[in-house]
Amino acid sequence: MKIERLKAISLEIPFKTNFKHASADRAKTASIWIEACSNHGALIGYGEGCPREYVTGENLKSALDWINRHTSSIVKDITNLKSLKAWVVKQEQVIDKDPAAWCAIELALLDLLGKSEGLSLESLLALPPMPPILQYSAVLGNNDLAIFSKQVLKYVSVGFRDFKIKLSGDLEIDLRKIACLLDTGEAVKIRGDANNLWHKPSDVIDYIDQLGQPFWAIEEPLVSRDFAGLSKVASRTGIKIILDESFTCAQDIRDIRDMTDHFILNFRVSKLGGLIRSIALLENARSLGLPLIIGAHVGETSVLSRAGITLASVAGNATVAMEGAFGTHLLEHDVCEPPVMFGNGGMLRPKEWHFQNAAGNGLEIKGQNDPTYK
Ligand SMILES: [Mg+2]
Repeated sequence: MKIERLKAISLEIPFKTNFKHASADRAKTASIWIEACSNHGALIGYGEGCPREYVTGENLKSALDWINRHTSSIVKDITNLKSLKAWVVKQEQVIDKDPAAWCAIELALLDLLGKSEGLSLESLLALPPMPPILQYSAVLGNNDLAIFSKQVLKYVSVGFRDFKIKLSGDLEIDLRKIACLLDTGEAVKIRGDANNLWHKPSDVIDYIDQLGQPFWAIEEPLVSRDFAGLSKVASRTGIKIILDESFTCAQDIRDIRDMTDHFILNFRVSKLGGLIRSIALLENARSLGLPLIIGAHVGETSVLSRAGITLASVAGNATVAMEGAFGTHLLEHDVCEPPVMFGNGGMLRPKEWHFQNAAGNGLEIKGQNDPTYK
């Protein structure tokens, strides 16, 4: 396969509702969108990455610059799956610095390779079949209480029982939000995401105590990569710590080898630098007995949701939760029809979707000149 053209643009799709947490407030997507062409434009592969300053230090401009710098090497060196995998190994440190930029390109190339060989992503990568049912969590941003309680009621009414809430750090507000979930009268399961709110383990321990220990796990309560501090929080509270901003590359797993009992890893294909790297990290995590979450950045389109499903095929029963697949529950419009999105109760059954056995990512992407996604 010869890559004839790599086109990179930024993708800005408005949200139906703002999404806010301790590190960001978003009203639209902030993604890199790639189209990779071969066969004189007859085949097009599509990819997406979500550069996030507070996760990988990237932004839209730095990601587009990275792509410009590396396009000629990518086009020259990558002609098949073997050379794609070799590029990932050879450029490990380069990708470590700009994983979302590479993710966008890699997903486009995997889609293109799958289409040129008539293979689905899973067949191309020789992965197990997709799980029959995927169960996604409801993720609630740090919106004001009126919006929050409306969202809770809506989620509960359509069968959601698994929630992740973004913490504000304001005790009274967080207490009222937790009460709002508990007052539904349903057996809800709650985890909190603090997006690096605190500096001292003792502050986190006190806060969780004051909240009445409502969580089965808490995500990123301390500054990123304070593994010793996080481990202390886990020991004192008996609550597992989810690593998200603190987990972006292989070194992070090496750094927690001796304290795996305390942690859950949040796998997001974009921040980990694409599917090939995510799969290798996932196999490493599973060999250490680490539980994992298949996560998502806010505002991912169906392309990254589809990649998350590929990752879920490898994760098997090590998965303790899934996030993403919001599609047009959050976006004003998605890049394909139908969008990859969960239904009632957060369920998605891959066998009901055309993409399961179709070539490449199997998504019906809207026309490349369609202004609705540009
Ligand atoms: Mg997070």
